[in-house]
Amino acid sequence: VIKPGGTGQPPSVEPACTACGAAAAPGAWRCGCGGLLDLPEVSLPSLAPAVEAPAGMWRYREWIPVDPVPGLSMGEGQTPLLARGPDLPDVHVKLEFVSATGSFKDRGAVVLVAAALARGAERLVADSSGNAGSAIAAYAARAGLSCTVFVPEEASVGKQAQIRAYGARLERVPGDRMAAAERAIAEVERTGSTYASHVYDPFFLQGTKTFAFEIWEQLGAVPDAVVVPVGNGTLLLGAHRGFRELRSAGLTDRLPALIAVQSDRCAPLAKAFDVGSDAPVEVPVGPTLAEGIAVPRPVRGAQILAAVRESGGCVVGVPDSTIAPAGRELARRGLLVEPTAALVWGAALLLRGRSSAARTSGEAWRTARELAAGRLIVPLCGSGLKAT
Ligand SMILES: [Zn+2]
Repeated sequence: VIKPGGTGQPPSVEPACTACGAAAAPGAWRCGCGGLLDLPEVSLPSLAPAVEAPAGMWRYREWIPVDPVPGLSMGEGQTPLLARGPDLPDVHVKLEFVSATGSFKDRGAVVLVAAALARGAERLVADSSGNAGSAIAAYAARAGLSCTVFVPEEASVGKQAQIRAYGARLERVPGDRMAAAERAIAEVERTGSTYASHVYDPFFLQGTKTFAFEIWEQLGAVPDAVVVPVGNGTLLLGAHRGFRELRSAGLTDRLPALIAVQSDRCAPLAKAFDVGSDAPVEVPVGPTLAEGIAVPRPVRGAQILAAVRESGGCVVGVPDSTIAPAGRELARRGLLVEPTAALVWGAALLLRGRSSAARTSGEAWRTARELAAGRLIVPLCGSGLKAT
């Protein structure tokens, strides 16, 4: 077991407020002014892996502003990138569910927990629709930290069992994803625990950005577009940052277009994109099988919209009717994914004209179809074994 507070160097950079620019107070999860915290971009001249590169995403350790903690990593990252085949030319799927806890969240969780350890954390509190909570709980277990995870009551039974199995205290909260977050924040304020939030803690994005580095390395270039599921946007914001850092380093001269995917039953960002808003729009929310992205009021919504626009991409709302056929289509090729990932694949099939599971119209879909005609990456973010 790793000794809390006794591990590693402090992070080489510290968070600052995106609103007022002030440095973050030690242990704060947001600025005193209420603003979100972010870390400065890393800019290095090359992406050459370390001489004796460790497995997975820690081969980019020079680009990650926290030292790896011995005994913490489970080999995150370096996930397979598979060409789909001649029926869908230039489409690659990236198997993000191939990781210790079964989702891409391990990339962010390992960096978040390493940074928390370096700053002396002893107790972690998180909130999640399931996958982030599982990842935080797993790395907390490895670090010897106590951990409480708040999940919406409706979170899948499999994910709840997974969180408990790692030894975390699981708290089921009536209501939506936002209600779970409110309970977690109240617990942090009441107990002085560290808020291990994949939404607020900017170290999480320092892990998810390696998704972009890997794509660049595996393809030998950046793709034309990436289809990305978006609830709180932890993969999208990480990918955007990773591609920007590659561009700053002179390793590419462009950003791939980010085609953000929401369930049309919970689409505050797709609606914002449609009406030209800089911030998420209040929308009616219905039940969706895509629980991983059912976030009615995304905290980093304005950042997500800015990132999508800077990339030349768009946000589309995808009907739940695409989930079952897209999931079956993948499973017949050996890929078993959770409903949120199936929705994203359903979007890719619609964009390439290979699905009739839904009718789509509107400017965002027209834009997305044009963008998706080139070299396209589709991450499959969560394992189907969780979705019971
Ligand atoms: Zn501030």
